[in-house]
Amino acid sequence: MSSINENISSIKKDIVDVCKASGREPRDITIVTVTKTIDLDSINKALECGLNTCGENKVQELIDKYEQLDKSIKWHMIGHLQTNKVKYIIDKVELIHSLDSIRLAKEIDKRAKNIDKIMDVLVQVNIGEEDSKYGININSIEDFLVQLKDLKNLRVQGLMAIAPYVEDPEEVRSLFRQMKNEYDELKSIKAQNINMNYLSMGMTNDYKVAIEEGSNLIRIGTGIFGNRNYH
Ligand SMILES: *Cc1c(COP(=O)(O)O)cnc(C)c1O
Repeated sequence: MSSINENISSIKKDIVDVCKASGREPRDITIVTVTKTIDLDSINKALECGLNTCGENKVQELIDKYEQLDKSIKWHMIGHLQTNKVKYIIDKVELIHSLDSIRLAKEIDKRAKNIDKIMDVLVQVNIGEEDSKYGININSIEDFLVQLKDLKNLRVQGLMAIAPYVEDPEEVRSLFRQMKNEYDELKSIKAQNINMNYLSMGMTNDYKVAIEEGSNLIRIGTGIFGNRNYH
């Protein structure tokens, strides 16, 4: 079994190689260290390697880790967020990747306003149109964004997608490309609370293809920590 340290070095090297081959800058790619189910010692090892952005998909786990780990960590909520749980994380997270309904947007805006914060969010796109996944249909994103325009404590910073799991990541290249096209088109929208800066796509299995297609936020768990152990 290779160590966390070696795994991270190898991912960083891949990022450099893929960027070089596709004319991109490695410094433009941020790794979100996905820490779900991972113990504190292992997470601390990843932090020592310079990764300070962590992602969790469950509210309770995020809160527990927020309290126990170094306060310099930037926490990202990457999983489906229930409206009634927004209040527990609003002061703890830097970015919510999983905005998937107007109701959730309104709640985030309200809770952010209460603490005088502008909450950065990404709109989750159900790119594979899978019933099992949350997210807005790619053809409906503009309509969705129009409905957010009066929410002054919410700032849309980009899009996020979880591609369908496939053995060969080449199979999802065209989906990533669609995401990038949509992201580029949305850049022309002039609204005070929309600022397309992040395209969150790519996980352990498909991050190289995702970077080639324009991702700048990759979410990696297994590739850093090995297989998760769900109890
Ligand atoms: C678990 C998870 C990841 C990381 O997946 P790996 O395949 O372990 O890299 C990325 N994004 C989301 C939303 C996740 O829930």
